[in-house]
Amino acid sequence: MTLRNDPPAIGVLALQGDFAEHAAMLRAAGARAAEGRLPSDLAAIDALIIPGGESTTITRLLDLYDLREPIRRLGAEGMPIWGTCAGAIILAREATDLDRPHLALMDIAARRNAFGRQVDSFELDLDVTALAGPPFHAIFIRAPRIERAGATVDVLASLPDGSVAAAREGRLLATTFHPELTSDTRFHELFMSMARAYRSAARAASK
Ligand code: GLN
Repeated sequence: MTLRNDPPAIGVLALQGDFAEHAAMLRAAGARAAEGRLPSDLAAIDALIIPGGESTTITRLLDLYDLREPIRRLGAEGMPIWGTCAGAIILAREATDLDRPHLALMDIAARRNAFGRQVDSFELDLDVTALAGPPFHAIFIRAPRIERAGATVDVLASLPDGSVAAAREGRLLATTFHPELTSDTRFHELFMSMARAYRSAARAASK
């Protein structure tokens, strides 16, 4: 039997990219983290992280491992999904320069590699509405630019150029930067609270 206060079980899509860093961060924050590559790995999780990496590679592997449709369905049913950087591109309803279908679950538009060569990577302190405490030190690596967020999307943080750096739509979370490369667990804790809320609602509905 699982207890109400069990740590949430959070899957990390482990096809490519920095999934190991996410799993380590989740464990540091007290979650159970499971790296997943197969459709059967999706069965026992309360939420899923799609990590940073290369979105074209990840979408190709989603097809190869028959994961795209099962993940899309879980997201449409309300399971929390968080995409960081490449993961945010894969979650976005509109994404530039992808050569095959992606998840397209969240009402945002992402432009890949939009920050230009000379600032391929940059770091800055972001005010994030959903997080208590000091600004969040955000690391951007060949980040996408979220150029549009729909009416049902809450913008959690923006860049000085006005683009969106973090957003939430219901149980979907997108960040164009990499919290898993810092030692600040606040985003992972926020996502764990989304996972707990989903698990409680799913358990109540199955009673
Ligand atoms: N540039 C990558 C892409 O377009 C994203 C980079 C990242 O995830 N750090 O998929």
